[in-house]
Amino acid sequence: MASRRDFIKLTAVGGVGLLVGTNAYSNTLLSFNADDDLSHLSNNLLSTWIDALIQLQVNAKSESVDFGGLMCPACGRVHGRVGDAIYPLLYMAKKKQQSKYLDATLLLYKWMEKNMSQPDGSWLNDPVKGSWKGITVFSAIALAESLRYHGALLDNQFKSEIENRLKKAGIFIYNNFSIDYGNINYPITASYGLSLIGTILDIKEFKEKGRKLAHEALGFITKKDGFLKGEGGPYYTSSGKGCYSVDLGYNVEESLPALVLYGKFTNDTEVLDAITPVLKNHMEFMLPDGAWDNSWGTRNYKWTYWGSRTSDGCQPAYALMADRDPRFYRAALKNTELLNVSTYDGLLYGGPHYLSHKVLPCVHHTMCHAKALTTILDQGIPKVKSDLRKVVLPREKVYGSRFFQDIQTHLISVGMFRATVTGYDREYAMKNGHATGGALTMLWHEKTGPLFVGSMTEYKLQEVGNMQPDNDPFSMPLTPRIELMKDGKMYMNISDLKASIVVKEGGGEVIVTTHSKLVDQDQNAPYADEIECQAIYTFYDDKVILDFDSGISLSNDSIRVVFPVVSKSTEKVVVLSDHLIHIHKNHSLVKISSDSKIVFLPTDTGRIFNFVPGLEAIPLAICNPKCRIEIDVVSKMY
Ligand SMILES: [Zn+2]
Repeated sequence: MASRRDFIKLTAVGGVGLLVGTNAYSNTLLSFNADDDLSHLSNNLLSTWIDALIQLQVNAKSESVDFGGLMCPACGRVHGRVGDAIYPLLYMAKKKQQSKYLDATLLLYKWMEKNMSQPDGSWLNDPVKGSWKGITVFSAIALAESLRYHGALLDNQFKSEIENRLKKAGIFIYNNFSIDYGNINYPITASYGLSLIGTILDIKEFKEKGRKLAHEALGFITKKDGFLKGEGGPYYTSSGKGCYSVDLGYNVEESLPALVLYGKFTNDTEVLDAITPVLKNHMEFMLPDGAWDNSWGTRNYKWTYWGSRTSDGCQPAYALMADRDPRFYRAALKNTELLNVSTYDGLLYGGPHYLSHKVLPCVHHTMCHAKALTTILDQGIPKVKSDLRKVVLPREKVYGSRFFQDIQTHLISVGMFRATVTGYDREYAMKNGHATGGALTMLWHEKTGPLFVGSMTEYKLQEVGNMQPDNDPFSMPLTPRIELMKDGKMYMNISDLKASIVVKEGGGEVIVTTHSKLVDQDQNAPYADEIECQAIYTFYDDKVILDFDSGISLSNDSIRVVFPVVSKSTEKVVVLSDHLIHIHKNHSLVKISSDSKIVFLPTDTGRIFNFVPGLEAIPLAICNPKCRIEIDVVSKMY
């Protein structure tokens, strides 16, 4: 590691700024924008994040096991992957030419090697025995990028120590990873990791395996729509509706960025050409505010409104491909703007309402997304030739409805409303994960943002170390649904994997009719005779009407329609009658009305909160087997 004196000497000659593009394993840089909006915002945001991360570094009591690690404010411990922050720390050291970033890097590396490093060359996900080792690929890429772009900041001894460590990590990845290793994001990131390490250390076998994995990954692009499948298993067998495992969050924030980075690093145009339409297809699910609508994904237990809890970020996938489609630039920019407004006191919060609900942010989000921004700043965003003021995202357009067969999901775009209805029947390793059954998993309006969202159908810590526990006794799923409680067991329409959905369009309206059954998480019905439910969602320019029919004729205390309305706890709620509620948003008024009595389900603070996707809501319900609910959004004129 360069000492403080060396660093001053190094920066004084102005040498550091010349390293990019002259490094032996750095691609020749293409023409790129250094001062465009995205680069500018990324630089500022990264600087904010890194300064906050440094504050979390444990630098007292050198005998402590946490010494040098970054303490997570939410989880109260040091996460195993924080060593990845070495890469953005070094970027900041070069940019700001301050030794505190180098000092932090050295301490962090020592923590990582002392606590996470294994004799087989891997690093652990968490500092506990038996922890997942696949994350080695992410740490390896972070160290490799550090050498590639910022190696000149390090003294020869530290540099060769990292090179030796990288070689061991590369051997672990080479020996253990295959296209069938873990979820698809692992072999895909290994394609880039092995290509990068193989080039830096000049190991032919690594490079060959990297190329092989990248090309094998192209076989995981779904035939009809062009999604990347493999976030969950089984890899090679489809669901009852012909679906495979697709997760938007992991795809746009982990796998597609890695394929782009691999393709650009190795100049593999076959891969870049193959994934360009895949990037476009996934972009259909970006909301106009830059959010990723992963209300239906297999791993939506880690869905945060802007992405996914522990993945890196969509910026390398979209920004670095902006010369192929100017909308890619807009997607990366809009998402970064959302990351920016989700940042408080220097840390990226896991959703828009964490702060208002007084929920602390896990440091994973900041640390991982800092890597993504560092990557696009180091590699440079290609110049976009189009007039960016005229570029719009797919969901910024009004188009009626679109169906994505490979995930059995419909997107609706009418007036200022955007909606998602899903009957996707591929589950992850647990039951009652993402909603299905013809659920309305997103209702978004230009004036309000999200009004309804699909959370997990039952919140469970599928990944204990990577999720936050929910200790609120009043907590519940956010997805609008029909519920029946019988003998202590919950039956819901949004659990039914066999639901059917029919969409009709005409006269500017879209009508979505869903048929499902009330079932428990194991698809069992409450009675010998199955109960056929119907939910009809009708979208007009100025309102949305939801008709629920549980299929049960008599009123029954244990059946109800639950529809939590997304609302920050600072918003004023006015109850005008049993049938009409007003929610005052910043620039609009949301009117919720029904033909039945609306009841407020209990809360501690007036709002429930769900980590998926990090939103507060007012838990409303109607205790009738059949009801109509109308949602109007009107602009405030005062
Ligand atoms: Zn945490």
